Amino acid sequence: MSKRPLPDDLSVETLSIRAGQLPTDEQSHSEPMFLTSSFVYESAAQAAARFSGEEEGNIYSRFTNPTVRAFEQRLAALEGGERAVAFSSGMAAIVATFFSLLKPGDHIVSSRSVFGTTNVLYDKYLSKFGVDTTMVDISDLDAWRSAITRNTKILFLETPSNPVAEVGDIAALAKLAHDNNALLVVDNCFCTPALQLPLELGADLVVHSATKYLDGQGRCLGGAVVGRDPEISEIFGFLRTAGATMSPFNAWVFLKGLETLSLRMFAHSAQAAELARWLETQPGIERVFYCGLPSHPQHEVAKKQQKAFGAVMSFRVIDSDGNADRQAAWRFIDATRIMSITANLGDTKTTITHPATTTHGRVPAEQKVLSGVTENLIRIAVGLEGLEDLRKDLARGVQALGHNIKD
Ligand SMILES: *Cc1c(COP(=O)(O)O)cnc(C)c1O
Repeated sequence: MSKRPLPDDLSVETLSIRAGQLPTDEQSHSEPMFLTSSFVYESAAQAAARFSGEEEGNIYSRFTNPTVRAFEQRLAALEGGERAVAFSSGMAAIVATFFSLLKPGDHIVSSRSVFGTTNVLYDKYLSKFGVDTTMVDISDLDAWRSAITRNTKILFLETPSNPVAEVGDIAALAKLAHDNNALLVVDNCFCTPALQLPLELGADLVVHSATKYLDGQGRCLGGAVVGRDPEISEIFGFLRTAGATMSPFNAWVFLKGLETLSLRMFAHSAQAAELARWLETQPGIERVFYCGLPSHPQHEVAKKQQKAFGAVMSFRVIDSDGNADRQAAWRFIDATRIMSITANLGDTKTTITHPATTTHGRVPAEQKVLSGVTENLIRIAVGLEGLEDLRKDLARGVQALGHNIKD
């Protein structure tokens, strides 16, 4: 890669390809992959200088690896943050954020519809260390406000949420957080920086599961936190200690994935919008949840803070005998031939899931209802196959419910 410095003010498209330069003497054009656990020094004195921090440079790949660093720099540039820290998974990034910034007695206010495992983190682990969480409706600003206590240190949300695509107003929540000396943390997994820039809207930290759209082809697990100091230094310190490190191989895959990020996100969004509009007109589809639809309750907020509406949508089904239950949902899913029946998302391959018995299977019943996860709900994450083929695949589902397709 070139050692010439990049100009300022580059677009997301250019940054996703060019940011995170990794100069080497071999002049490799593609980013080199440093598959090494440790680094060597010219002398004992240099080793000492590296370890004391007097001299900058690589030490050990648990916390300093050039390929991982290039991924961090590229993602930080894309999100408009000062610095990013990469992790072995999205959950590792979320755990590190909470454990490095909170202490016993601190309080989190979180939107109710978060990734299922984030819920488990609140209920089972953070609570054990004396950190309590209050869950609120993502779109109800008054609920956020009244949940805040003297001990609230973090407001956390995922927008649009999984699986019913609820949207939180990032700018309004950032103001609310700052008026109360708290930080706003946004899980930007579903939009990515190609579609939404939470830091620009006032958020303090962005967390990612790189496993999803940053990779984009379902190959590797990874995660990251983006923001500024002093928070990022704290989180980096936690990584060095906890060791939930991103592998250099995965970082290299993510660097390659990022290069097509904007192209993919707009293509995913365009296909999803078409299918959402079509599903809304079909019999047996009780309701479609997609923030790109004018019928979506937070469509205006989504339009204000996102460049497009993403690939994830869900819908409730009802069969021709009037059953709106698990059997109807499973029949729909089992009738598809192209879509992958899997809980993952963020892939070129379209995925179809029954949230109530998979991603949200461990969520308590009452919370499931509040999150909109009914037995007849199906989630799809629209991939990049041909649009007509996907439409026909969904038509197979509608027909399996005993309905005739409407043209
Ligand atoms: C998948 C996901 C996570 C967790 O990421 P992993 O890489 O699976 O650990 C967190 N948040 C959201 C929104 C996700 O979709």
